[in-house]
Amino acid sequence: MAFDVDMIKKVYAAMPAKVEAARKKLGRPLTLAEKILFAHLHEDQSLENFERAKTYVNFAPDRVAMQDATAQMALLQFMQAGRPKVAVPSTVHCDHLIVAKTEAKQDLEKAVNESREVYDFLASVSNKYGIGFWKPGAGIIHQVVLENYAFPGGMMIGTDSHTVNAGGLGMIAIGVGGADACDVMAGLPWELKWPKLIGVKLTGKLNGWAAPKDVILKVAGILTVKGGTGAIVEYFGEGATNMSCTGKGTICNMGAEIGATTSTFGYDDSMSRYLKATGREEIAAAADAVKEHLTADAEVYAEPEKYFDQLIEINLSELEPHLNGPFTPDLATPISKMKETAAANGWPTKVEVGLIGSCTNSSYEDISRAVSLAKQVNEKGLKTKAEFTITPGSEQVRFTIERDGFLDTFDQIGAKVFANACGPCIGMWDRMGAEKQEKNTIVHSFNRNFAKRADGNPNTYAFVASPELVTALAIAGDLTFNPITDTLINEKGEAVKLDPPSGDELPTRGFAVDDPGFQAPAADGSGISVEVSPTSNRLQLLDPFPAWEGTDLKGLKLLIKAKGKCTTDHISMAGPWLKFRGHLDNISNNMLIGAVNFYNEKTDNIKNQLTGQYGPVPATQRAYKAQGIGSIVVGDENYGEGSSREHAAMEPRHLGVRAILVKSFARIHETNLKKQGMLALTFANKDDYDKIQEDDTVDILGLTDFTPGRPLAVVFHHKDGSSDIVTVNHTYNEQQIEWFKAGAALNIIRQKFES
Ligand code: SF4
Repeated sequence: MAFDVDMIKKVYAAMPAKVEAARKKLGRPLTLAEKILFAHLHEDQSLENFERAKTYVNFAPDRVAMQDATAQMALLQFMQAGRPKVAVPSTVHCDHLIVAKTEAKQDLEKAVNESREVYDFLASVSNKYGIGFWKPGAGIIHQVVLENYAFPGGMMIGTDSHTVNAGGLGMIAIGVGGADACDVMAGLPWELKWPKLIGVKLTGKLNGWAAPKDVILKVAGILTVKGGTGAIVEYFGEGATNMSCTGKGTICNMGAEIGATTSTFGYDDSMSRYLKATGREEIAAAADAVKEHLTADAEVYAEPEKYFDQLIEINLSELEPHLNGPFTPDLATPISKMKETAAANGWPTKVEVGLIGSCTNSSYEDISRAVSLAKQVNEKGLKTKAEFTITPGSEQVRFTIERDGFLDTFDQIGAKVFANACGPCIGMWDRMGAEKQEKNTIVHSFNRNFAKRADGNPNTYAFVASPELVTALAIAGDLTFNPITDTLINEKGEAVKLDPPSGDELPTRGFAVDDPGFQAPAADGSGISVEVSPTSNRLQLLDPFPAWEGTDLKGLKLLIKAKGKCTTDHISMAGPWLKFRGHLDNISNNMLIGAVNFYNEKTDNIKNQLTGQYGPVPATQRAYKAQGIGSIVVGDENYGEGSSREHAAMEPRHLGVRAILVKSFARIHETNLKKQGMLALTFANKDDYDKIQEDDTVDILGLTDFTPGRPLAVVFHHKDGSSDIVTVNHTYNEQQIEWFKAGAALNIIRQKFES
């Protein structure tokens, strides 16, 4: 599982000089986030006093992690890059494709059979290109990363939004799309807008029923789901150092739920203890040697209001357990207020299922505290009222909690243990009766609780809480049960009170594991071939996109003029389409099927200009492609907002769309389009959107002189013989124009490695 101690030592060796240079340049003390960011500037990036929330900066992350659903396209692209090996340490984790139904073993076997082709592909690509491969059942990406790879002061990217979990070990860890992962694995710089900084000062100490989860549930209530956008959240103060490393991981994990770029904590004893407990004494020693660079400068924490854009203070000694939900993770209700809040909102209060675990909350500490409550069921003559499930985050945790008797205790209260995988957290929960869509309540210790997220039932009211509180509420079977004040009636009719949870931060006998589920890559992968069946439904090797033909683009058809919101979900839907994420042609059958056609206000219903008939968007575009006719998509404001999935850019490119012309772009989607060799254009005058007519044929002029900062012209030839010439802007720099000319950024990378 080699955690790259040499790489980490190299990062630490370079850190003091880089931090000092940045401190000098800015002329002030630095926050921890700034230190890590400055220490990871790409070698091509000059050191400047970057403007927060404005300047795009190139970074060199230390490592890449990918989960199986997103790794497929990332690795298919990487295979095109022509590199013999990944440029930075990288791992693949098989966790998203396992359905939780019966229990771990059976569910895992079923998933392995059903997704064998995808797993075999990921294993062989990993083997060939030097990528560590974590098999199905090994654990959830973020827990495995925390246990094995995260390190204080490091920077990583991962193809999953909860990559931010590694902030618990003092990293800057950021979720990205597969195209970004591909770039970094190919040795290219990675671009990020210099973030704003939010400081969270934690005073006091958690006690009683309050858990680290309650910190982030409280922060989510304060900042809302958008409040962290474009910002790094830095936690500090005695409350932070009083908390376990895995507790810090939980807090950082749910930073994704407030839209934060990432969250992090300064290096402290809890991190050192965790590194040592997970077999990384050498890294703890290396971190100790540079520890002044692994926290903010003392002046920052003395006067935080001077250095952070926003400051929040939470006294952990007074923090109450929270329940957030339903349907959004920022609707925070302290447990003492749940009775009145549930009644006022008509929320169903009978708890049907309590679910603990997931990447967010399955540390040894979490499980040991939950088990201290489960034990009381027998001790106090109680009966657990709700169903109860456990989803361990890794085989190491599962094996250790089994050895320590925790699973036996859970078994005694009728709990089900699911596979070490995402399962119910990502809708991969085959919950009996969910199809009836009955109104019901569940409580879980995961991170997200949007409608349908856990079991596909839009009427499941999901509330997020700490594993301790979830366990107590499952025992009580009642959402309004406040274990701090309320009693339960046991089987003998006596009123009993649950004792507050207690547990161990780390296993006193150490972690243990038999087979962690790791497959190291071949030292020399050059002889390994990656097999993908040409008849596969789920995987398809990519062909390079063709280079620009060297002329202006003429005679394009208007494919769709999209009206209003057009997110990456409208462009490339998720849900049932997830299984085609490794097959570009098959997933292209969802291209723009959620976009609203301006002319008839319908989705997936547009005019085929060749036949005059209305039909689905992908079929219409395929008809144009079959005739060798290109097309253009017109859109509204913030086109492509939402996720960073590159499928939303690759699908139109694959089907022959040549340009996307919109009022404005979401930044990541605009970059993704450029990377795939598409023209991403914006109206110089937004009112020109109104000039476009349903039967237009379109020319894009000025491409032979495509230059940064110089607008292009687009001619719309209308059916009645008239035309409009529209000026369009673009944000291509020299390098991005080269991507366009070559057909895609990857084509340039490949040429580089071939030459
Ligand atoms: Fe994402 Fe949930 Fe899996 Fe964590 S457990 S990686 S949040 S799906």
